Parts: sequence; C-alpha cells; structure tokens
Amino acid sequence: MKGLFGMGKKKDVGESVPAHDGKWLVQYDRKGCIGAATCEAVYPERWSVQGSGKAELKGSKSGDGIIFELQIDNSELDRMKAAAEGCPKNVIHIINRDTGEKII
Ligand code: SF4
Repeated sequence: MKGLFGMGKKKDVGESVPAHDGKWLVQYDRKGCIGAATCEAVYPERWSVQGSGKAELKGSKSGDGIIFELQIDNSELDRMKAAAEGCPKNVIHIINRDTGEKII
C-alpha cells in the first residue's frame, strides 16, 4: 500500500476519475479452469466453454498456452469483473495496466 501518504500530494478538487486511461489487463490461467462455465453465463461475448471442458477467452493471446491475456477498456470492466468474481477457481484476474494493481 505505498503511495497513500507523502509524495504526490497534488490535489485536483473535483477530480475523482482514476488516472488510468481505462485500459485493463485480463489474465486467465487456463490450467486451473474446471469448465464450470460461470464466466460464459455471465459474459458470453468474451467467454465460451468448448468441448475441451476449458473456457476460452475470446480475443485473448497466450505465449505458453496456459496464461491468456486480453486488454479491455472500461466499457467491459463490469461484465469482466462479474465473470471473474463468479469463477469458482479464481483463475480470472484483472489488472490496472497503469498502476499494476490486481483488482481481482
Ligand atoms: S468460471 Fe472459471 S472455472 Fe468456470 S469455466 Fe470459467 S474460467 Fe473456467
């Protein structure tokens, strides 16, 4: 929790919008997926469970076939958060690309 006090004390009164540009990084660990399909039920535009019994994160990329990544903007954040929160295996995470904070 660094940065709460001390440096960077600039105050923009009335400015409550976070500093990031609305870009979020979704990270999905396919290895831990059990195919429960909660993600698909919540956000079918981005998630689907194939015959393999593992979820597919539509539009994502992976370097190793295990961790899949996708950048989204604020317009998708609520639905992606709902999918992540509903995942019984907690294999979906969302990271603020500006701060590095993992919000889920
Ligand atoms: S909710 Fe989680 S465990 Fe279930 S299919 Fe989606 S990613 Fe896999």
